[in-house]
Amino acid sequence: RNSAEKFQFQAEVSRLMDIIINSLYSNKDIFLRELISNASDALDKIRFLSLTDKEILGEGDNTKLEIEIKLDKEKKILSIRDRGIGMTKEDLIKNLGTIAKSGTSAFVEKMQTSGDLNLIGQFGVGFYSVYLVADYVEVISKHNEDKQYVWESKADGAFAISEDTWNEPLGRGTEIRLHLRDEAGEYLEESKLKELVKKYSEFINFPIYLWATKEVDVEVPADEDDSSEEEESSESSSSEEEEEDAEKGEDEDAEKKPKTKTVKEKSSEWELLNDVKAIWLRSPKEVTEEEYTKFYHSLAKDFSEDKPLAWSHFSAEGDVEFKAVLFVPPKAPHDLYESYYNSKKSNLKLYVRRVFISDEFDELLPKYLNFLMGLVDSDTLPLNVSREMLQQHSSLKTIKKKLIRKALDMIRRIAEEDPDEANDKDKKEVETSSDDDEKKGQYAKFWNEFGKSIKLGIIEDATNRNRLAKLLRVETTKSDGKLTSLDQYISRMKAGQKDIFYITGTSKEQLEKSPFLERLKKKNFEVIFFTDPVDEYLMQYLMDYEDKKFQNVSKEGLKLGKDSKDKELKESFKELTKWWKGALSADNVDDVKISNRLAETPCVVVTSKYGWSANMERIMQSQTL
Ligand code: ADP
Ligand code: MG
Repeated sequence: RNSAEKFQFQAEVSRLMDIIINSLYSNKDIFLRELISNASDALDKIRFLSLTDKEILGEGDNTKLEIEIKLDKEKKILSIRDRGIGMTKEDLIKNLGTIAKSGTSAFVEKMQTSGDLNLIGQFGVGFYSVYLVADYVEVISKHNEDKQYVWESKADGAFAISEDTWNEPLGRGTEIRLHLRDEAGEYLEESKLKELVKKYSEFINFPIYLWATKEVDVEVPADEDDSSEEEESSESSSSEEEEEDAEKGEDEDAEKKPKTKTVKEKSSEWELLNDVKAIWLRSPKEVTEEEYTKFYHSLAKDFSEDKPLAWSHFSAEGDVEFKAVLFVPPKAPHDLYESYYNSKKSNLKLYVRRVFISDEFDELLPKYLNFLMGLVDSDTLPLNVSREMLQQHSSLKTIKKKLIRKALDMIRRIAEEDPDEANDKDKKEVETSSDDDEKKGQYAKFWNEFGKSIKLGIIEDATNRNRLAKLLRVETTKSDGKLTSLDQYISRMKAGQKDIFYITGTSKEQLEKSPFLERLKKKNFEVIFFTDPVDEYLMQYLMDYEDKKFQNVSKEGLKLGKDSKDKELKESFKELTKWWKGALSADNVDDVKISNRLAETPCVVVTSKYGWSANMERIMQSQTL
């Protein structure tokens, strides 16, 4: 078109599109759920705005918050339309091509290694999956505040935008027209689309309709010289009037040869493909494991086979009423810790009375629980206020408190149900069931993916510090390469041992050789290894657990229980320690003392009680965190 304005795709987007077009990825189905998910997001947005401005929905068909799918077999076009918020000309230019999202390059990178295209939605670039099946795509869109525009691209590095003067006016919303590639003909089959919507879009909260052909039995007047009962599907376009005539004709005489016959007719009508029911409103007893798993997949846009590690579905009553479903994902998202301190992203969706409000609501969960997925639907929060007002609502504090409690319970249960976690002390009988196999090793899995979050929680959340410390897992001089809990450590403490011993450093191998451990090992004390940079910070906050103090064995003041010889030794070497102190001078050491932690090594430099450990100094120098 002459009037079209041409644009180049941003470089990363262009690379992404090349990858998609040339992909040999077999599961091309995913484009449909990405388009439906975008349509659903757009509908959520307009519904949210309509809460404070009724006018915004307009009237007539514009008020129908639904998604419609249509097929044109001849032209090989599949189109998906919504009556959502729509896009202005500027939105089209920005959202579909010129502004790369943060996930774009991450996804491109991932695809170049052994990435799974299935994850495209998680990276915020799902739209471009249309080029798995189409070689030409048109996006027609009408936003309340602009005219109707067409975006179009053959994925050749450029796209064009024109004011739409030839298509039917949309009223409001977006229609995506996919001109399917020859080999993508299966997406013109109604049965295929029905199957896909069932499979991937079960939890979309808006009705999804397909313009579907139906074969209906129609009574038509019998042809005099047509004796055969069976009919090839008739081409005659019989109307309802004819049908009525036929019925009238029929009740004259049933005995005689009928004057009408039944033929199969094709007609089209909107067929609803999903039943819009919110899973979280159902009783947890009635929801199956499979349904929770599928629901998780749709929330997380994670369509791998992996099951979530745990979930919790509950409702809170009283002053603040809400229902919630929380999931522990099977894997940490790609950028969970990368952006920990500057991201504000929470993965909880907030609904108020079934209406989606926001998925960027930071007031619901503390940062360290950002790895959880789920949703909260509250009847107590007001519907017709702005997001800013809602953010300050007093009920949020109560909701947050309960969510944290439930989340930590849910994580604790992963450990309790994991046979690998069985502790001789608190598990009486080791029962085995098929369930056990599934639960086996789940906590170690959780810890590998999200252990750091628990540590960050201990640092940041003083109120729940003890609960979180229960979830902590460590390796020790006695854990044999496995993970152990603080409770297990305590259960193994020697008689008379008051403190929990630990040592920090860069690796377990390095620490195992440390002279600081000599006496402790000899005396059979267990020592925890902390080797993650975050551990140094952690131990500044985790002072004690179950009335036991934490004692860094590389710091001054280590007590290994009473030893009568200590005093004697101190006395007899008084002169020597004095001499050493003078020889080293106060610039180099604070003090020289008789050590109770060495067995073979003659001397060792230790850190003062309140100073930074040597490891912390190293971390501060390299700023690893
Ligand atoms: P994401 O949905 O994760 O943001 P996509 O690549 O799927 O990423 O979509 C890119 C953007 O294009 C969306 O964020 C949205 O702004 C816009 N968009 C896509 N489809 C629609 C639609 N049907 N209606 C309105 N905006 C849309
Ligand atoms: Mg999307």
